[in-house]
Amino acid sequence: MIERATAVLPAAFLSVLLCASASPLRAQAPPTTREMNLLGWQEFAELVPERIETVLVPTGTLEAHGVLPNGADNLAPEAMARDLAEKLDALVAPTLNYGVTGSLDAFPGSFSIDAEAYEAFVASILTGLAGNGFKNLIVLNGHGGPQTAILERVAERVGREQRVRTLVANWWTVASDITHEVFGQDGGHAGNNESAYVQAIVPKHVHAERYAPDMATPSSAAAGWRAYPFPSSIILYQPGQGYPDFDREKAAVYFRRVNERMATLVATTIEKWDRAQIFR
Ligand SMILES: [Zn+2]
Repeated sequence: MIERATAVLPAAFLSVLLCASASPLRAQAPPTTREMNLLGWQEFAELVPERIETVLVPTGTLEAHGVLPNGADNLAPEAMARDLAEKLDALVAPTLNYGVTGSLDAFPGSFSIDAEAYEAFVASILTGLAGNGFKNLIVLNGHGGPQTAILERVAERVGREQRVRTLVANWWTVASDITHEVFGQDGGHAGNNESAYVQAIVPKHVHAERYAPDMATPSSAAAGWRAYPFPSSIILYQPGQGYPDFDREKAAVYFRRVNERMATLVATTIEKWDRAQIFR
C-alpha cells in the first residue's frame, strides 16, 4: 500500500504543476499574492472579477495608544486582512494609514486628516475599487471616534451609486463578547483587548516597561465631562475594567478568535447577499 502510494504521488504532483504552468489554465492557479500592492495588472485582470469578487480595505489612523505603536489602528486591520484573505478568497487593498483621529490628535506623533478631505478620499477609493470589478467591498476598520460614521456613510453611498455590496466592520465591537471571554472583563482603547491584538502582531513594539495603570482613564461619555485633548490614550470602556495585562498567550488566543469572528461575519454577509441576488 505504502509503495503504491509513493509511486503514484509524484505523477499526480507533476500533473498539478503542469496544469499550473499551462497558459490556458493559468487562471486556475492560486494567486501569487493576495496584496494589491504586489499584484501586476496582468494577473489582476485574470483574478478580478472572474475569480475574486471581494476586497478587504484596512482603515486606521496614527494615534497615541498607551504603550502600543501609534500605528496600532493600521497594524491591526492590516494583519487581520492578510490573515483572512485566503479564507475569504479576497484581495487586500493598501491600508489607509491616515484617518480622522479625534480627541487624541494632540498626542505626540498623532495625526488627523480633515473630515471632509477624508470622506472624499475614501469615496474615491471605494469607487475605484468598484470600478476595478470588485463586488464586495469590506472595510476592516481599526479606528473608531469620528471615523466610523464617515466610513459607514461613504460606504453606503458608494454601494448605492456603484451597485456594489459594502460592509464596514469595527473589530473591537464585533468581538466584544470575545474580549469578555478571554479577559473576563470589558476592554478599552489601547486596553487589554487592543493591546493583546497588537502584541500578537508586533510584540517587540509593545513597550510594557513603559506602562503604569494610571495611564488609563475611564471613558467620560456617560460621566458628565468632556476634555480636549482626552487626558489619557488608554481609555477604558468601563471604570475598573480593561487594563492591559500583556499576557503573550492570551494575546495569541485573542488574535485567533477575533479573526475567526471577523471571517464569519464577512463570509455570512456575502453569503446572504449572494442568496438574495443583490446587485447580480
Ligand atoms: Zn486603536
